[in-house]
Amino acid sequence: MKYLSLIFFMSLLPQYAGKSLRRDGSHPRTFEDIKNEIAGYSDTAKAIIDLAVHGKAQNRSYERLAVFADTVGPRLSGSKNLDAAIQYMFSALQKDGLENVHLEPVKVPHWERGEEFAVMLEPRNHSIAILGLGSSVATPPEGITAEVMVVASFDELHRRAQEAKGKIVVYNQPFVTYGETVRYRSQGAVEAAKVGAVASLIRSIASFSIDSPHTGWQNYQSGVPRIPTACISVEDAEMMSRMALRGTKIVVYLKMGARTYPDSPSFNTVAEIVGNKYPEQIVLVSGHLDSWDVGQGAMDDGGGAFISWEALSLIKDLGLRPKRTLRMVLWTGEEQGGVGAEQYYQLHKENISNFDIVMESDEGTFKPSGLAFTGNAKARDIIKEIMALLLPINVTDVFDNADGTDINYWMRDGVPGASLRDDLSKYFWFHHSQGDTMTVQDPNQMNLCAAVWTVVSYVIADMEEMLPRGPRVRKSNKPEHSSFCGDLGLWLMETAELAIRMYCPGQILHFVNVGGDGEKSSDLQKASALLCFWKHSQKLS
Ligand SMILES: [Zn+2]
Repeated sequence: MKYLSLIFFMSLLPQYAGKSLRRDGSHPRTFEDIKNEIAGYSDTAKAIIDLAVHGKAQNRSYERLAVFADTVGPRLSGSKNLDAAIQYMFSALQKDGLENVHLEPVKVPHWERGEEFAVMLEPRNHSIAILGLGSSVATPPEGITAEVMVVASFDELHRRAQEAKGKIVVYNQPFVTYGETVRYRSQGAVEAAKVGAVASLIRSIASFSIDSPHTGWQNYQSGVPRIPTACISVEDAEMMSRMALRGTKIVVYLKMGARTYPDSPSFNTVAEIVGNKYPEQIVLVSGHLDSWDVGQGAMDDGGGAFISWEALSLIKDLGLRPKRTLRMVLWTGEEQGGVGAEQYYQLHKENISNFDIVMESDEGTFKPSGLAFTGNAKARDIIKEIMALLLPINVTDVFDNADGTDINYWMRDGVPGASLRDDLSKYFWFHHSQGDTMTVQDPNQMNLCAAVWTVVSYVIADMEEMLPRGPRVRKSNKPEHSSFCGDLGLWLMETAELAIRMYCPGQILHFVNVGGDGEKSSDLQKASALLCFWKHSQKLS
């Protein structure tokens, strides 16, 4: 798995500041003008909502997704199923009459779990449900039989390091938030191997469990032995923890046949509605087409992919053609750390000034609550006006910090970004598990998500001017310690901007940030950026 190294030369930021996007040299319009322009879309927004929620397109994104998910099944990077999924979408998008339907080749990791199982041998015979973690090595062919050491945290592991040699380390860390707890999945094997463990079993990163293991990507570190690693259910992790606390000796037999093959050819899938005035300018909507190899990948991220398709279909059905090009990208290799999206970014970044906004839905398509947005204050005010058009379905909130593995590359470079916000209360019940199937999805909720996605993307694509971009200007000059220390959701760029503004104006800051934890690598990057900045600011003050 690749590691991302991000070096920010903050002195480069002002290149975006105050850049006028007007082509004819006339005076920029006032916010009042923009507000009126957006209000003029209220009939169009109503028409989109009617068609998506009440009209003939009602339930379409759900029904399309059901056929797709039932036909293709799960779609792991490098698998035949993913190839089939891409071919399926390529012909479905053409049949739908969309424009410039094409595939952009990329290389993606190819890992297969093979046969795997675990059995508790002592104190009693018990079959342990496991899912090997992406990129894990296999056990030796005869498997590993070893005593278990249970820890609740990395701290405990380090405190009891001398006990770990030759053991299988079981992590029974409590679920706090995904962003905070996922490091046990991504780094658990490395930390266990550093103290001499022979394998690691990690309590699934899940907020609820019916004995279900939840897989995900994990990372090895150069110079540290590569030990086999898998996730186990919350129930088994808690049971082994109880046994260990009673002083009971636990012995587990682990067998894993995982293999990593050379990178595979794959594709990002693209379709467009070409703009009629500024066709070179892009409003990008997206979700990822790949998934884990369990369940159906209906929630992660079938829902996000199919509401993105639905946005283009609805606009086409209404006979609308925005001024800018509306481009849908269905990413490949997201679960391995945004691999398809990174290659897309490398290929298209020279055109970055033409990317108006990048949008991704990859955190469920449950009941929508609004839009998360990353961009400067002026752009945010515009987004708030656009979201007001969604009053008929009462989804008008604008939140901070858009998030999406696949769009972070662009947002990092100053392109405004948006992600769908929805009711996440059950998301981590199913995430990366056999439970991620169509049964989780709800047609009415998908209709509402599609309406939000379509209104936002269409209006941005059709407004006379692109969204302003550049550093955020905050109203308050007061340091926001709570968000520095408590909110890992802060986006890296915002953090860096705040750092400059509050603590060292005029200075050039170099953030060297090495991290990466697979699917949600951005969370780790944010966390280490926060830490990095915090240390830096302490030194300065
Ligand atoms: Zn996802």
